[in-house]
Amino acid sequence: MKFVLQRVHYMPKELQPGILYVSEEFLTAAHLCACGCGAKIRTPLGPTEWSVEEDPQGPSLWPSVGNWQQGCRSHYWFRNGEVVWGEAWSSEQIAAGRAQEQERRRSYYAKPYSVGRWRRLWKWLSRLFAG
Ligand SMILES: [Zn+2]
Repeated sequence: MKFVLQRVHYMPKELQPGILYVSEEFLTAAHLCACGCGAKIRTPLGPTEWSVEEDPQGPSLWPSVGNWQQGCRSHYWFRNGEVVWGEAWSSEQIAAGRAQEQERRRSYYAKPYSVGRWRRLWKWLSRLFAG
C-alpha cells in the first residue's frame, strides 16, 4: 500500500486508508494502520515526537510506528509513501524503546536550562572584563 500526504486543519472523524493526515496547526498526524486492521494511529509531531517529510513521491514519517497497543502489533516506517515493515518487537524491545523515547524527551527539555546557565556565565564573564 502506498500512502499519500493530506494536509488538514482538523483531523477528520473517518480516516481513509492510504492517507497520512497532517495538521501543522495541531502538530499531529494520523492514519489508519498500514496492515489494514482499521486501527486509527495518531502520531504527535515535534522535535521530540515524530517528524514528517514531504516528498513528491510521498511522505516519510520518522521514527517508526509501533502499534503495540493494537491487536496487530504492526511496526513500520513510511519512506517516500512506501510502507517499510519492521520486525514485531518483543516486550523487552518495547520497554527499551519506551525508555529511549523518555531519554530523548528528557535530554531535549534539559537543554534550555543549560543554555541559560552558559548565557548567565557568559554575561558574568563579559561584565568582569568590561569593568
Ligand atoms: Zn494493524
